[in-house]
This record gives sequence, C-alpha cells and structure tokens, in this order.
Amino acid sequence: MPLERTACTHCGHWHLYFAGRTPPGCLVCSDVRNALPPDGWDFADVARVAAAVRNTWREYLPGVWGVSCDPPFGLGATGWLIAAGGGNVAFEAAPFYHPDALGFIEARGGIAALSCSHPHGMGALWQLQERFRPAVVIHKDGVRFTKAFRVTWPADDVHEVAPGLTLHHVGGHYEGHSVLYDAGRRALFAGDALKVDFHPDGRPRAISCHKGYHYQIPLSHGEVRHYRRVFADLPFEHVFTPFEYAAGVTRGHALALFDRLLGGPPTAQPVALELL
Ligand SMILES: [Zn+2]
Ligand SMILES: [Zn+2]
Repeated sequence: MPLERTACTHCGHWHLYFAGRTPPGCLVCSDVRNALPPDGWDFADVARVAAAVRNTWREYLPGVWGVSCDPPFGLGATGWLIAAGGGNVAFEAAPFYHPDALGFIEARGGIAALSCSHPHGMGALWQLQERFRPAVVIHKDGVRFTKAFRVTWPADDVHEVAPGLTLHHVGGHYEGHSVLYDAGRRALFAGDALKVDFHPDGRPRAISCHKGYHYQIPLSHGEVRHYRRVFADLPFEHVFTPFEYAAGVTRGHALALFDRLLGGPPTAQPVALELL
C-alpha cells in the first residue's frame, strides 16, 4: 500500500501514513504536553497545506535566517538556517516549504546538517531532507518521533554538528530534547527549554520553562538541575526557540531563573527579566 505524508492541522506534525487514509490520531496532540484539537482530528495532505500558506524569511543575525509560514500553520514554528564552516546547519523547520523558500536556502548553499530540538520544532523537516540530502542529526531518545523522515545520525548527549555548533541534550520538556549552541554568535537555539514573553514593542519581558505549556505543567527540580548543568557552560546573549527570537536574554537570566525554580515549589510561571 502506498504511503503519503499528512499533517495534523492542529499542531502541524507531519505523519507518514497509508495514502488516502486518515491516521487514527496525532502522537503529538495525544501527548499530555499538547492540547487535543477542539473539533476532532483533521489531517491535511501536501496540496492542502501548500494552498493554505506562503513562506516568509528574513535574516535575524548575520548568517542566521528564519523561514516561517504565513499564516502560521500548526504550532507555527520557524526553521532556522545557520551559516557554518563546512556547510549550513538547519535547526527546527517551518511547517511547510514552497519552492521559493527551498530556492532561497539553495542560493545560500543548501544544508549540510539538519537537526531539531524536539517534535514541536520538527515541522516539514522531511522536505529539507528530500531536497538537500543533509546529515539528519537527532538525539537518540527523540528518534521515535521521526516517522516522516529518516534520522541518519542518532546523537548522544553532546554532538558537534558543525565547527562551533554543538548539540547538547537537556531532556526535561521532552524526551531527547536538545539545544544547539552557536559559540561564535553566542546564541542558544533553546528549543522549548526556555519560553520567552515579550513587551508589545518586541523587547523580551520574561522567561519561563515548562514540561507542558498548554496545561502549565512544570519541570521537576531534577530536570531544572539538568538544564542548569548544561547551560552553565554555554555563555549566550541571543535565544532562538522554535517560535521566537529574543535578543538580550542571556545565560545569566537563565541560570537565575533555574536557581529561583530550585528554591520553591515547581512552577511554569514566567519571571520578569528585571527580577533575574
Ligand atoms: Zn497534532
Ligand atoms: Zn515543545
């Protein structure tokens, strides 16, 4: 029976399933860390997703571009393209890529290595694999979520994806959840290890961390301690999550947040940056 890719319209996660049949459910939305779709399951094939969105892209830092969908689809992740020695690295993925967006990536030299933090940032990673044939590097505990594409390099807890770009397993929010550290740009591609809230003028206002965002499920103290151990060695001044870019959120802010969380009962509440 032929297979096809189909996307959950609620979270955007791509599934590989029997052509013409609807998957029985979405593994991301069925998980406690996501909400269930209020109107029941709905899956869209490639043509339907393509008709629903266009792509936008821009440069956020020198050599760091983000590709998004407009209007947002699913959880609305942005796929980051990072210029690196030995070839570009892509981290996280937009929910869908039209030929013009793939052409933009091609014009910048394509993708040598492709990775993501966890399923909420996976987007249409399968399209990037089909087009550019990069190494696909995913933490070994996250491989079970990758049915729509093929992991070529299961990673252990620390993995150099490219010179100066290192994947670090942090766990906590999700099995296999990993952050990508860009030492040259002092930037952390933090996945959902940090959630940033913003002022109306776009400046970052507060940060938080969570096991599950929709139901505000906090991390355990042990999970926060793991984040702290990893972040302590990674000085940064820029944070990229699958959903936001925050200039000026630093390692100092993150470590102060973790210390605060370790000093009280678990919470997913945001803490204002000026208190950190
Ligand atoms: Zn879903
Ligand atoms: Zn997440």
